[in-house]
Amino acid sequence: MKNRLHFAHLPTPVEDLPRLSATLKGPRLLVKRDDQTGLAFGGNKIRKLEYLMADAREQGADTLITAGAVQSNHCRQTVAAAARFGMGCILVLFGDPPDPPDGNHLLHYLLGAEVVFTHRDNVTVKLDEVFQAAQSQGRKPYLIPYGGSNTIGALGYVNAMLELAEQNIHPDWIVFPSSSGGTQAGMLVGARLSGFNGKILGISVDEPADQLKATIAKLATQLAESIGENRTFSPADIQVNDDYTGEGYAIMGDAEIEAIQLFAKREALLLDPVYTGRAAAGLIDLIRKGFFEATDTVLFWHTGGGPALFAGKYQTHLLG
Ligand SMILES: *Cc1c(COP(=O)(O)O)cnc(C)c1O
Repeated sequence: MKNRLHFAHLPTPVEDLPRLSATLKGPRLLVKRDDQTGLAFGGNKIRKLEYLMADAREQGADTLITAGAVQSNHCRQTVAAAARFGMGCILVLFGDPPDPPDGNHLLHYLLGAEVVFTHRDNVTVKLDEVFQAAQSQGRKPYLIPYGGSNTIGALGYVNAMLELAEQNIHPDWIVFPSSSGGTQAGMLVGARLSGFNGKILGISVDEPADQLKATIAKLATQLAESIGENRTFSPADIQVNDDYTGEGYAIMGDAEIEAIQLFAKREALLLDPVYTGRAAAGLIDLIRKGFFEATDTVLFWHTGGGPALFAGKYQTHLLG
């Protein structure tokens, strides 16, 4: 496998959720605490960045460039990694900038990002422009795609599945939010390596299932190839549920609010409005619908995102 820098706090703990399970009259519930990967409030991108940073360093980069929404966890974790290794970081962001900056966006500035705003449809063009400009200033930029989801970043979740096996945790289901696909692709390839035989169910955050499955299948196939595993993945091999995308990306509805309140009050677990709140809302609904067997063990993989709780646009809704 590719080189990796070690800065994440690993292994992340796995904890039981007995009060939540009792409240929902559901199966045994566990949580894997990737909200606790360390480095500037942590999250799933830290695992990916251990590999991406190693690659950036090998290429002699001095500046990371990436893109995301204004409350992007990925951008916050990327600029944190840049700070930690003495690199610069340029973020291309889209969405309405909060004034004053709050949530992840406050941390973007605090961690030292150079921020450029553009329209969502113009991100690719803007990234290219920023990359060229950095080069012409004599900098050595390194481009990280949305969510760190390429064959290098996804190695973080190959490794995460090996870590879970090492912890001797063998759930029947893993449930988590899936968006740019790197987490799920990494888990699928990692499951193959670790001999995991439970099911891996991504709750789509914003895309139709067909589209997301195609993205994941392609990335998982390339990822397997990149580490010499002769295995292809087709969309039929991938489980994605898109019943919970609600009103769209980053729009917190009643289901997310209920999930955030329930996890907080029953287990003191803090979810986020965009990703884990949505996936937890899906998990709660699936439990209520009797989707899981009473004898199942279901592991909710907490991917982080907590700082978005402190974005002003969500705060009043969360107190209802
Ligand atoms: C980025 C992110 C995800 C989605 O991970 P992908 O690898 O992009 O599918 C899930 N949860 C949180 C909190 C995230 O920041």
